[in-house]
Amino acid sequence: MKHLLVEKSSGENIKIQIGDILVGGNKKVIISGPCAVEDYESTLGIARKLKNIGVHMLRGGVFKPRTSPYDFQGLGFRGLEILSKVKGEVGIPIVTEIMDARDLEKAVPYLDVIQVGSRNMYNYSLLKELGKINKPVLLKRGMSATISEWLYAAEYIMQGGNHNVILCERGIRTFEDYTRNTLDLNAVAVIKQKYRLPIIVDPSHGTGIRELVLPMSLAAIAAGSDGLIIESHINPDKSISDARQTVSMDTLNTIVNKVNTFENTFSM
Ligand code: PEP
Ligand code: MN
Repeated sequence: MKHLLVEKSSGENIKIQIGDILVGGNKKVIISGPCAVEDYESTLGIARKLKNIGVHMLRGGVFKPRTSPYDFQGLGFRGLEILSKVKGEVGIPIVTEIMDARDLEKAVPYLDVIQVGSRNMYNYSLLKELGKINKPVLLKRGMSATISEWLYAAEYIMQGGNHNVILCERGIRTFEDYTRNTLDLNAVAVIKQKYRLPIIVDPSHGTGIRELVLPMSLAAIAAGSDGLIIESHINPDKSISDARQTVSMDTLNTIVNKVNTFENTFSM
């Protein structure tokens, strides 16, 4: 089974420049924000705080892939307008998930990074369309995908000419149900050793429990992750979605400080 485009032998390690942020370089990249964009005021408040703490990008969902069709589905394009206004106000790059290839043309100009969620890792028509655009893609691992299937998904995008793919380990389904998913940090070590794409880790979906986000963030960095994506909110318990795994700004601040210290004392 060959991964022609992502093996180390197929070229240089891929580093992705987003404004003044380099993903896959020496500095760990931190992306954070609410699971879902809720309204302008709260998004602006969160973004200001993130900027202050030293978070590099704001991620907020506007098209939400909810397991139940009865749950909040996101603000859609209205949410995108909010993110874009907040970006203008605070000066922070923005990331959101796009689920439907038909939304790409309208949505792409707003965004600095396009997220492909776990449920859409196998959406090959979406991946092919993302291959034709010139924007970085954050490709989350399917919750039941093997590392190899995940790499093929990345290659679906890259085949079209867009090599700006950032992998994101977000936990897989196992027999263990104490945590929401099982964060597979083996995958991080495998990708860093054998493949040339940058990889970040999502300890929020990987654990589903906010108290576990800090230790698993540090474990991810120790395993070689190029960064983290963490769900945060000014009032975590009031988050419209994924409240249980959402950390406060204080906890996020602690994580960022620890990652910065870690980075200076421990590198592979
Ligand atoms: C999310 O990032 O909010 C999300 C829905 O994550 P995942 O696709 O990993 O479940
Ligand atoms: Mn979420």
